[in-house]
Amino acid sequence: MKAAVFDGNKIELKEVQTPEINDDQVLIKVKAVGICGTDLAIVSGSLQTPIPIILGHEFAGQIINVGKNIDNYWKGKRVTSEINSNVDFNCYYCNKKQYTQCISRKAIGIDIDGAIAEYIAVDSYLIHKIPDNLTFNEATFIEPLAAAYQTFEMMKLVEDDKITVIFGLGKLGLLLVQVALEYGLTVVAIDGSEKKLSLAKEFGAARLINRMKEKNIVNEIKDYTNGIGADIVIDTSGNPRVIADLISSCKTRGKLHIKSTHGIAVPINLTELVVREITLYTSRCGPFQKAIEGLKIGNIKVKSMISNIFPLKEVNLAFASYNKDHDNIKTVIEV
Ligand SMILES: [Zn+2]
Repeated sequence: MKAAVFDGNKIELKEVQTPEINDDQVLIKVKAVGICGTDLAIVSGSLQTPIPIILGHEFAGQIINVGKNIDNYWKGKRVTSEINSNVDFNCYYCNKKQYTQCISRKAIGIDIDGAIAEYIAVDSYLIHKIPDNLTFNEATFIEPLAAAYQTFEMMKLVEDDKITVIFGLGKLGLLLVQVALEYGLTVVAIDGSEKKLSLAKEFGAARLINRMKEKNIVNEIKDYTNGIGADIVIDTSGNPRVIADLISSCKTRGKLHIKSTHGIAVPINLTELVVREITLYTSRCGPFQKAIEGLKIGNIKVKSMISNIFPLKEVNLAFASYNKDHDNIKTVIEV
């Protein structure tokens, strides 16, 4: 099969062995793969993976073969897959049903081969059916949307949580805007791209701040919150230079949620967190069924977030689309 193989320096379309499935796996003909910030971090060298590796973990496709232990019902089904593979169902975290933190976990497209390829073999417990009203391209948003839901599941909102700041309106930020609204929050959305800000407004963000034009973000947020600060501040930017502003924008006893991975050690003023009793949250992968439901009933809209579509053979152009265009929200590779 053809696959986009990253060798530590570059991505190359290569002919490789089609993966074989074991008795508990399914073979998926990949139809669409989204490029994620994690993929870009791997290619830029800030996130280390085994090499060579086939990248890609936000994907959808059709099951064309199933292992001996899997019901034939699944053959032909349109599916997406969770990324936390090799779960042992036996460790401390598995016994607490926290499978995404299993100590044996290997992430598809990060620790083991991923989906920017014609086929991928996947553990059957990772598979979820795609609703009929979703295209394969739209279904590539299920994985990041699940992560967006996880942001709020981890924080356990209380009645006082009313205003949330979302800093960074890439794919994850714009999904977070929509999930926050579903939770009944008022959203302040911050980015440097007018295009992304206008999409956040379309989704229902109440206050937009263009960080390229508004030099003092903290003042803007304080003004909007009667001098108190936001109840919740979420960072998706991965930009270490904004952390101080994010803390200052958060109310005393508020919630600060770091959603992005920085890939480097980031200086952070813990004293301000301590003195003002701000709780620091983090989160990673989330509930797929909740994400699928949000898309199925139409609460979450993703079509307008697809900025570019490339065929597999143009995988390098697909990756380059992020460098060329700061308005780029999500590039999808069709296989
Ligand atoms: Zn485990």
